[in-house]
Amino acid sequence: MFLSLSPFIAAALIPIYLWNEGSHWALWVAAIVLWWVAGLGITIGYHRLFAHRSYKGSKVWRFMALIAGATALQNSAMVWSASHRRHHQHTDHHGDPYDATRGFWWAHMRWIFHDNELVDDLSNVPDLQADPLVRWQQKYYWIITLSLNIGIPLGLGLLIDRPWGMLLFAGLTRIVFTHQATFCINSLCHILGTQPWSKNNTSRDSWICALVTFGEGYHNFHHAFPADYRNGLRWYQFDPAKWLICVASLVGLTSNLKRTEAPVRWRKRLERQTEKYETSASHFIPELGADWRLRVDSARQLVDQHLSQWAQDLRNYRRACRDGEVTKAMLHSLRETRRAWRHAWKNYLALEQTMPLPA
Ligand SMILES: [Zn+2]
Ligand SMILES: [Zn+2]
Repeated sequence: MFLSLSPFIAAALIPIYLWNEGSHWALWVAAIVLWWVAGLGITIGYHRLFAHRSYKGSKVWRFMALIAGATALQNSAMVWSASHRRHHQHTDHHGDPYDATRGFWWAHMRWIFHDNELVDDLSNVPDLQADPLVRWQQKYYWIITLSLNIGIPLGLGLLIDRPWGMLLFAGLTRIVFTHQATFCINSLCHILGTQPWSKNNTSRDSWICALVTFGEGYHNFHHAFPADYRNGLRWYQFDPAKWLICVASLVGLTSNLKRTEAPVRWRKRLERQTEKYETSASHFIPELGADWRLRVDSARQLVDQHLSQWAQDLRNYRRACRDGEVTKAMLHSLRETRRAWRHAWKNYLALEQTMPLPA
């Protein structure tokens, strides 16, 4: 009832309130700040820390993430993470609670209204059950979430003598926005955008989605490498969660930030490009396509070899870093392998221009 009615109640009450009481800057500022706190609590805390363990958080950090996440009114971190892990395990299939192949509205929020016998199944989060802080949030979830979601707006409202206004703006309307932003990760991020990393599921990369989901919009990358603490790989891609986790690591609040190594990432790109070529090749006139296919095959093998070499060089380099034995020759070899890989990769991509005409 709350999920269905809250957007309409907020949309109806806001103009009535503004008409009768007028606006106040603090209402808007508090709503936006608390929206970000809740949204980042889900992204940084529930999603990347608890559901995926993509980095480690100190006690203080985990506590802040649990409190911020609780203000989003999206269930406890344990329940949220259990269903999110099922989403990754069974993406687009039976068992995926927000299966995007069942349509936009199902993935967005209809799934919440249907009976789900697995909602209380916490068997896939034994690590979280062992965390006393997560257990504490699970036990007192409703007390925490209700006291924060009513107490903070009410307290701020009393400060400016507008308790009802603050409850409406920083309470109800802010929760509606937080819900819709998170729901977009399951719906919009599986419908809108490109699939540069994998076509094995419906997840997509889109900067528009990233803007409304606090940086979770690079969802195709996330599904390909769920253990990576980043969703937006490049420094300029809008991913405030990644920036915050990284800055927090400088002061010891977070640690062990997991990054997917470049050769592993590029191997996924190689697979995607190969799939593309295979799909195109199935439409060729057989006599014309044979020679081109051979060239694709040998170019792919070359890229593959260079990627393996690059991964090996990186492993050697890491080991040498640990032992304090990095040599100039080692750095030179790493640079050369990368250069050779880039050259081979460009040649592989260039084959697209020499593709025979389809039958
Ligand atoms: Zn997804
Ligand atoms: Zn995820």
